[in-house]
Amino acid sequence: MARLIDGKLISTQIKDELKAEVAALKEKGIVPCLAVIQVGNDPASSVYVNNKKKACAYIGIESLAYELEENISQEELLGIIDELNHNDMVNGILVQLPLPKHINEEAVIKAITPKKDVDGFHPETVGNMCIGSKGFLPCTPAGVIQLLKRSNIAIEGKECVVIGRSNIVGKPMALLLLRENGTVTITHSRTKDLKEITKRADILVAAIGKPKFVTADYVKEGAVVIDVGIHRNEDNKLCGDVDFDDVVDKVSAITPVPGGVGPMTIAMLMNNCVETVR
Ligand code: NAD
Repeated sequence: MARLIDGKLISTQIKDELKAEVAALKEKGIVPCLAVIQVGNDPASSVYVNNKKKACAYIGIESLAYELEENISQEELLGIIDELNHNDMVNGILVQLPLPKHINEEAVIKAITPKKDVDGFHPETVGNMCIGSKGFLPCTPAGVIQLLKRSNIAIEGKECVVIGRSNIVGKPMALLLLRENGTVTITHSRTKDLKEITKRADILVAAIGKPKFVTADYVKEGAVVIDVGIHRNEDNKLCGDVDFDDVVDKVSAITPVPGGVGPMTIAMLMNNCVETVR
């Protein structure tokens, strides 16, 4: 039976470290403040936004909620972002994605000043990550690196395979593993002989968006498997991109869903908020 990598526990440790750091900052009169913008009321987005507000409250980060009408124009939204960019009381700006179809996500991401880009999606932030300069790291892949490090799983010199090449997860995941001196392969929907590649992995990260896609025949005996996927199955239960029951006896360590990567994403967002005032 594999070791479970407990994202709930590790994310709580990180949040408690941040809470202590924020308390110390408060004594110097510094209180980080995050502006959270939600457009419309998509139920999944509302859950994510509420969890972010709760995490801010727990750590002692101030949060400002902007709940905007679904039909707000792109110009109005960009105007609000511009005001927040110039508001010295606001340290971080987060626009919950996805946005309604009439708004260009790329334009919104580019409008947030890189100084306050706590999601880490602005091209300048991404560029800094690519060349290894200081800057915000995208929360989900940064959370995976923390899960590995805090579970004492070495990345250096390991064969790392990432399934998925999205801008939010797959691509930055591969870059961060490379930064940790892993030997990295990115695979995607056009990859030929996927199983042959994933079976080489010492560390396999699944970010595919397909429930229970990764079965035992995709993994090497003793591999570490990180499951980024989140889905609801027929019984309304959460599951990941990995068929947990099928692989668990073959691998050495694995993240569960829920309680694996999910809680780490918010913890790393909180870390980025504190980073704005460090
Ligand atoms: P996406 O749809 O943008 O990207 C999926 C990637 O998987 C693509 O690059 C595609 O090439 C690849 N892919 C699709 N089918 C494939 C196949 N048959 N073989 C190989 N590769 C294939 O999704 P995303 O935004 O990267 O998210 C991936 C998953 O992670 C989703 O389940 C999403 O809900 C979840 N997610 C979780 C968190 C978290 O906090 N835990 C954060 C972001 C995303």
